[in-house]
Amino acid sequence: MSLAVPPSRSVTVRVPAKVNLELIVGPLRPDGFHDLATVYQAVSLYDDVTVRPADDWSVTVSGAEAHLVPDGGDNLALRAARRLAEAAGIEEPVGIAIHKEIPVAGGMAGGSADAAGALLACDALWGLGTPRHALEQLAGEIGSDVPFALAGGTAVGSGRGEQLAPVLARGSYQWVFAFSDNGLSTPRVYAECDRLREGRDVPPPQPTAAMMTALRSGDAAALGKALVNDLQPAALSLQPQLREVLELGSECGALGGLVSGSGPTVAFIVPDAEVALDLAVALAASGLAAGVKRATGPVHGAQVVPGPSVT
Ligand code: ATP
Repeated sequence: MSLAVPPSRSVTVRVPAKVNLELIVGPLRPDGFHDLATVYQAVSLYDDVTVRPADDWSVTVSGAEAHLVPDGGDNLALRAARRLAEAAGIEEPVGIAIHKEIPVAGGMAGGSADAAGALLACDALWGLGTPRHALEQLAGEIGSDVPFALAGGTAVGSGRGEQLAPVLARGSYQWVFAFSDNGLSTPRVYAECDRLREGRDVPPPQPTAAMMTALRSGDAAALGKALVNDLQPAALSLQPQLREVLELGSECGALGGLVSGSGPTVAFIVPDAEVALDLAVALAASGLAAGVKRATGPVHGAQVVPGPSVT
């Protein structure tokens, strides 16, 4: 399909990072993935993905860690845009501009967020009106965390994490994130997890009752106690200094803390703004974290930013 889109038209989508409140890792599957039982929460750290018609497919990235993001065909946003174009029979390329606030290789699914952002932005730019389930299907083919970046909120993920189910979750939570200078490669963390568990019987993954009860109650203290991440021992084995970051969190009054996804970002749930500030200052002063940010969750998934679309 060839579209007559004015070249000045652009669409921007804002898309959140995620934290895994619970990440239970099952046995290694024959396809190289692991079955997961995970609870995702979308938090208020965002990337902005802007698409506009262009002569060639391209991507540019801005933000503090832009230099760590591939700007060619490996970029997940570009892959997502081309995948949607192929599925919809679109022949017009787009130029993608990503502004990154989500840490790169930080365990907060920044690349997946950008892929979800590109899907939604291109769908709007091309006026496709792709049904939600079809967009989610494409998202799941691009990456395990992409469907959740579209959905946002709080949700249970199964399979590789791409099969989402709603969860009864109350309350709004305050988070403090401690970033690391050195990213951790997700495949490397899973390989380390397999190595540490070698010879052990790994049961099929199940969400825990403690997490479900905490989410139903909306009680931040109960949620803090219920946080669990099976990848944490592997992330700590690869970056032992993360242990000190976790300890600092409990000393400063965090209700709970854990490595986010495959790390190395450490996520703390805090009771109020005062503890958030104390912890942020202590982390900055300790030199243990390369950066600190505060956020709230849950927030919406990918959303088109309202405003003039003709620039
Ligand atoms: P996850 O939590 O989903 O395992 P992550 O948050 O640890 O992932 P990402 O920031 O998604 O890690 O990046 C993982 C790798 O993906 C990066 O090292 C980078 O090479 C590649 N990548 C491809 N496209 C992007 C993108 N748009 N933004 C960030 N990284 C990207």
